[in-house]
Amino acid sequence: MTDTPTQLFIGGAWVDAADGATMPVDDPATGEILCHVADAGPKDAKLAEDAAVQAQEEWARTAPRVRSEILRRAYEIIIERTDELAHLMTSEMGKPLAEARGEVAYAAEFFRWFSEEAVRIDGGLATLPDGRNRMLLSRRPVGPCLLITPWNFPLAMGTRKIGPAVAAGCTMVLKPAPQTPLSSLALAAILKEAGLPDGVLNVVTTSHAGEVCEPLLRGGRIRKLSFTGSTAIGQLLLAQSAQAVVRTSMELGGNAPFIVFEDADLDKAVDGAMVAKMRNMGEACTAANRFFVHRSVVGEFGRRLAERMGALVVGPGTRDGVDVGPLIDRTGRAKVEELVADAVERGAQVLVGGRTPEGPGCFYPPTVLSGVDPASRLMDTEIFGPVAAILTFDDEDEVIRRANDTPWGLVGYVFTEGLDRALRVSERLEVGMVGLNTGLVSNPAAPFGGVKQSGLGREGGRVGIDEFLEYQYLAVPVQ
Ligand code: NAP
Repeated sequence: MTDTPTQLFIGGAWVDAADGATMPVDDPATGEILCHVADAGPKDAKLAEDAAVQAQEEWARTAPRVRSEILRRAYEIIIERTDELAHLMTSEMGKPLAEARGEVAYAAEFFRWFSEEAVRIDGGLATLPDGRNRMLLSRRPVGPCLLITPWNFPLAMGTRKIGPAVAAGCTMVLKPAPQTPLSSLALAAILKEAGLPDGVLNVVTTSHAGEVCEPLLRGGRIRKLSFTGSTAIGQLLLAQSAQAVVRTSMELGGNAPFIVFEDADLDKAVDGAMVAKMRNMGEACTAANRFFVHRSVVGEFGRRLAERMGALVVGPGTRDGVDVGPLIDRTGRAKVEELVADAVERGAQVLVGGRTPEGPGCFYPPTVLSGVDPASRLMDTEIFGPVAAILTFDDEDEVIRRANDTPWGLVGYVFTEGLDRALRVSERLEVGMVGLNTGLVSNPAAPFGGVKQSGLGREGGRVGIDEFLEYQYLAVPVQ
């Protein structure tokens, strides 16, 4: 902790906010203040933008191999410092150390993946159908980007954007979530050490997100917004981006259905449910929010899931043997409590959990609710906590209709041993990703993203870099 930077990172230098303001970073396991970091205002954001704009042209001309090797070095440094970074993440965000280590590996992998993509940006040359003209296609970086990230994956949400931006030759202003600024600052220090030129990445930590970001989006110099966060804020930022016609990528909220058919292997389904629900204490956009279980297996599935959930150890993420850390803050926990209370009032049975423990920290126990009324608020709200809400269904058409009956479409989980059914149901689900007999879809080599109000664009995979590139077409007559 002592070496972690706490200042703004602008033009390759660590600086205080112009007015000297700072903001506290809390440990969600104790509620105590860990440290203070610089609290940027609009003036600081402008300086960060200036640095990004100034660095853009030269950075765009840098050899792809050079950009690739910076990412590769940063990947290696992250992996070497896994323990240090995991402790930092756990202290500011709460997730158990084992999960934090997993996130460090996941986050680093985006750098390795995009180090490999940086040298594969291609173009094209073709004779057009009329035979009189050639088309020469090249790809160039979109320009200075504003990257806005949430608190739930403090390292990976940053690397998932910075990796392709560096690979494509874009400069950046990164604004991390105020709850978890330390991981982003540590990442900036690593990239500097790996040789990233000054001004290519700038980090502004702030408690005034709106005041800091809006002028950048409306000002016309930022050419790209890549945002991960809630749908409500995504909608606001899309409107702000419209004025200067800023290109956008939006990774927004989810409301994932988790469907267990009567022919499912229940061992796989319960294992999958534990991952899809409990990864990151349920604080994930990919978290299973609605469990639809066929009437013939709902009793058995609920009993087995409740047994597994009830056996998890809740406590501070730094303690050995802990499976479930605290939620991010009191507001997040209060929302989970209200959603559970509403479901119970409407007749849900609590199979396990459901009671907030006494004492410090933002802990909430793993909870399973069965017989949930479809009118319950948690059916159309991201729970963002360790609560599995089980509903019953009778046939395939019905469950697909109910699963799709939401404005979101990030991910769905399908458990069945029938290949035809698996493919048929997956094709009919209105989602960007499907986990077939698995509760984990995230992988840096696969395109991550949603449809409907879950977002626009994809991160990761072969297409992740496209979000940061523009085509230029040269018309060349055939002489
Ligand atoms: P959030 O409230 O939308 O905040 C996300 C980020 O946006 C934070 O850095 C936040 O800073 C910033 N922000 C808020 N208002 C802003 C404004 N007016 N202008 C510029 N920036 C602004 O979301 P969150 O609570 O941090 O994260 C949870 C949400 O993220 C969930 O909905 C989850 O599903 C979604 N998520 C999606 C994905 C995905 O890939 N689809 C991945 C992870 C999380 P402040 O906190 O200071 O406002």
